Amino acid sequence: MDFELNADQKAIQKLARDFAQGELRPHARKWDESGEFPKEIVPKLAELGFMGLTLPEKYGGAALDMVSAVLVIEEVARECGSTALTLAAHNGLCQKHIFHFGTEEQRMKYLPDLAAGKKMGAWGLTEPGSGSDASGLQTKAVKQGDHYVLNGSKAFITHGSVGDTFLLLASTSPEKKQKGITAFVVERGTLGLKPGKPEDKLGCRASDTAQIAIENMKVPLDQVVGGIDEGFIDTLKILDKGRIIIGSMALGLGMAALQASVRYAKEREAFGKPIAEFQAIQWKIANMATELEGARLLLYRAAYLQDQGKRTSLESAQAKLYASEAAIRACNEAIQIHGGYGYIKEYPVERYWRDAKLCEIGEGTSEVQRMVIARHTISGSA
Ligand SMILES: Cc1cc2nc3c(=O)[nH]c(=O)nc-3n(C[C@H](O)[C@H](O)[C@H](O)COP(=O)(O)OP(=O)(O)OC[C@H]3O[C@@H](n4cnc5c(N)ncnc54)[C@H](O)[C@@H]3O)c2cc1C
Repeated sequence: MDFELNADQKAIQKLARDFAQGELRPHARKWDESGEFPKEIVPKLAELGFMGLTLPEKYGGAALDMVSAVLVIEEVARECGSTALTLAAHNGLCQKHIFHFGTEEQRMKYLPDLAAGKKMGAWGLTEPGSGSDASGLQTKAVKQGDHYVLNGSKAFITHGSVGDTFLLLASTSPEKKQKGITAFVVERGTLGLKPGKPEDKLGCRASDTAQIAIENMKVPLDQVVGGIDEGFIDTLKILDKGRIIIGSMALGLGMAALQASVRYAKEREAFGKPIAEFQAIQWKIANMATELEGARLLLYRAAYLQDQGKRTSLESAQAKLYASEAAIRACNEAIQIHGGYGYIKEYPVERYWRDAKLCEIGEGTSEVQRMVIARHTISGSA
């Protein structure tokens, strides 16, 4: 067992840290306030390979391992949760679905533009009436000759309004429920694909989230991704990967809260000394540091197992659950350590809390993660 990062992993971590501190830190508050997707950051992310993190070079990707992807997302999230979520949806969901389950023709058609940041990827599973119970989706795809016709709607889709390449899940055999769902890839401008307005959100405000209406959208057969009726099984495999990325985002936000707390506790004085000298504050910091380290180890383990080609449904759920809840606890304590200043926007800790809250909801709520963990544990496969 080796707990050391290798030289390549350390180098990518430094690259991501330098980039995030230089290019994200100065803008994160402004982006949060405006709530607008900062398009200008995309070419810079692409230049570093962050728009195609784990994709092979053949498709224009940076060909990083999952452990390195975890490192990049953590560093980005330390400075800007919105940008971390942008990378999570683009890399971890849309791109991965096309890469793992698409044909070689589809990979060559869609992935290079996504990796180059010329196109933004979106992945649509959730609907207005189905989130945790994703297999209850109501969007229908009916075969008519050489194409499918899709009708329905999607909700809370990251890049739903700014996206260019959409991977959408629809029911092809409603009577087979979760065994009757199929994935389709469509591009912006397809007749019947109607992106909605961006949602006004609590956190991750500069990442784009929108509903999508789908009305009589004709999709040729060669835009089916994976097998007919196999989309939901593929989706679960994608979420095993995506949850590691969301957990890394939580880790980055938790670490930012910890660092801000340490800095502030050393500067702020009460009763004639820095508050860092009070045991009550020290214990909060000790708990934050320990829980985040635990989250890091769970994330690295899940990412490492993914790099070994293993299924990680249990490990990914554990890592995401623990990292997101540890991050929320850390952000909560960070606000408390900052006292009244923690409650105002001049200090970033309230933003960290708002951004981290998404990690307990997106790609499966904490309740859903506990369902997955309990199922594995009780069935004895743990
Ligand atoms: C900012 C943002 C970005 C997102 N991006 C995407 C995206 O790109 N693509 C996409 O497809 N989706 C996306 N989502 C959707 C997200 O994955 C869902 O919101 C999430 O899965 C929860 O679904 P829901 O909102 O329908 O809540 P519900 O499923 O209605 O859940 C409501 C509550 O009930 C609980 N609950 C439900 N079932 C059970 C149960 N069996 N046992 C115990 N508790 C239960 C839930 O945990 C939750 O607390 C995004 C969401 C947000 C907020």
